[in-house]
Amino acid sequence: MTQKVYKYVIVGGGVSAGYAAREFVQQGLKPGELAIFSTEEFAPYERPTLSKAYLFPEGAARLPNFHVCAGSGGTKQPPEWYTEHGIDLYLSTEVKILDVEAKSLTTSAGATYKYETVVVATGATFVRLADSGVPGADAQGIYYLREIDDADKLLAAIKDKKDGPAVVIGGGYIGLELTACLVKNDVKVTMVYPGPHCMPRLFTPELASFYEGYYEAKGVTIVKGPRATEFEKDESGQVKTVKLKDGTTIQADIVVVGVGAKPRLELLKGQVAEEKGGFKVDGFFKTSVPHVYAVGDIAAFPMKIYGDIRRVEHVDHARKSAIQAVQAIKAEEKGETIPEYDYLPYFYSRSFDLSWQFYGDNVGEAVTWGREAAQASSSKFGTYWIKDGKVVGAFLEGGSPEENKAIAKVAKEQPAVSSKDELLSAGLSFATTI
Ligand code: FAD
Ligand code: NAD
Repeated sequence: MTQKVYKYVIVGGGVSAGYAAREFVQQGLKPGELAIFSTEEFAPYERPTLSKAYLFPEGAARLPNFHVCAGSGGTKQPPEWYTEHGIDLYLSTEVKILDVEAKSLTTSAGATYKYETVVVATGATFVRLADSGVPGADAQGIYYLREIDDADKLLAAIKDKKDGPAVVIGGGYIGLELTACLVKNDVKVTMVYPGPHCMPRLFTPELASFYEGYYEAKGVTIVKGPRATEFEKDESGQVKTVKLKDGTTIQADIVVVGVGAKPRLELLKGQVAEEKGGFKVDGFFKTSVPHVYAVGDIAAFPMKIYGDIRRVEHVDHARKSAIQAVQAIKAEEKGETIPEYDYLPYFYSRSFDLSWQFYGDNVGEAVTWGREAAQASSSKFGTYWIKDGKVVGAFLEGGSPEENKAIAKVAKEQPAVSSKDELLSAGLSFATTI
C-alpha cells in the first residue's frame, strides 16, 4: 500500500499549529503539501479564551469566533480555511508514534504517513493531583482546564450546581482566571494555594497583595499555606469536601485545579536532545535532528536577550516560535538564512475588570509605584525590576495600549537607572518618556 507523503507535517493542533499553518500559506504553500494532526475535535483556536470569555455567563465566546489567528488581530481560520488552502487537517487524530529516522508517523488508528519536515507542537497538559497520590483526587466534580472539552465539563458543572460552593486549588494563572469566571457565574469560591502569595512565578508580595485584596473584595475566601491533602466523596463518587494539611475541611461541590502544566514530550522522547524540561532547539526551532522542529510550550530555546535557554508556556511565544520555525524552514529551502529568534518575554492576564501586562525578566530588585493610590477599580500601578543598574522587567496593571507598548520598550532597551527613588517618583512616566 502506498503511504501518503507530505512535504510538511505539524503534529499538534493548538495555537502554534494554527500560526504555523498561516505562515506556510503566507510563504507560499501548494495544495497537498501540509498536514496537521490534532487530538482535538476543533481546528486550532486561541486557547487563552478558555479561561476567560468562554466561561462567561453572558456573551460567552464560542467557536468559530476564536479560531486562530483572531487573538492577534488576524483573520480567523475555521476548518474551511484549511480546506481552501489545500491543507489536510486530521482532527480527533492522535499521533501515537513519530519516527524521526524513518520520517514517518502513525496515528492511534494505525494509519501511517511519511513526511519530509515535521514541526512538533504538542503543547502541554495539566498536572493532576491524582498523579501525586492525593487521596480522593479521582473524585467526580474535580476539574482541570486545557481544552474545549474540559471547559464544557466545567460549564456543565456550574449549571448543574448553580451556586457552588467551589474550591479552586492553585493560585497561578488558571487559579486566578477561573476564580474570576466562577464568581461571575455567582459561584462562591475558596482559593487554596501553598506559599505566601498568589502567582509566585511572577508577582512580588506587594503585587500579590493588591490582587488578593481585590479578589477578597469580590467575595472570594483565600486560604494560603496548607496544601490540599485529601478529597472526600459521597456514595456516588462525587467530591464533597477538601481537606487541608492543617486539618481544615472545606465543603466543595466543584473543585477546580490549576497546579501547573507539564509539556507533552512523549512523541520525541529519546529521539532528540532535551534541556530545561523541553526539547532543545536552536534560534530557528530546529531540534538536534535534521528536519525536526519543536515550537511553543515544548521548546527550550536560546533566549538571546538574556543569554540562556528557556521554555515559555505563553501564547505570544507559541505564535512567534511557530512563525519563526516556518520562516526558517522556507529560508533553508531557498539557501537563505533569517535572523535568530530574539524573544522578549511577554505575559498577560485578565480577570474581572483587571488587566495586566508584563515584559522582560522579573529578576533583581523590584520597585513598585502607584500601589498606594490604587483603588479596587480603575487602578493603574506597576513594577520595574532592576538588575545591575538597568531596568530589565516591567509590569503594568490597567495600562492603555500605548502605555503597554512603553513598558515593552523599557524591557527591551533596558535603560540605566540611577536609583530606586528615580523609578518610584517617575512611575509610568519613566516608561512613557523613554
Ligand atoms: P497547545 O495550544 O496546547 O496545542 C497543543 C496541541 O497538540 C493540542 O491541540 C493537543 O491536543 C495536541 N496534541 C498533543 N499531543 C498530540 C498527539 N500525540 N497527537 C496529536 N495532537 C496532539 N498564555 C498567555 O500568554 N495568555 C493567556 O491568557 C493564556 N491563557 C491560557 C488559558 C488556558 C486555559 C490555558 C490552558 C493556557 C493559556 N495560556 C495563555 C498558555 C497558552 O495557551 C499556551 O502557551 C499555548 O497554547 C501553547 O501553544 P502550543 O501550540 O505549544 O500548545
Ligand atoms: P501556574 O504555574 O501558573 O500556577 C500553579 C499554581 O499552583 C501556583 O500558585 C502554585 O503555587 C500552585 N501549586 C503548585 N502545586 C500545588 C499543590 N500541590 N496544591 C496546591 N497548589 C499548588 O500553573 P497554572 O495556573 O496551572 O497554569 C497552567 C498553564 O496554563 C501554564 O502553562 C500557564 O502558563 C498557562 N496559562 C497561562 C495563562 C496566562 O498566561 N494568562 C492563563 C491560563 C493558563
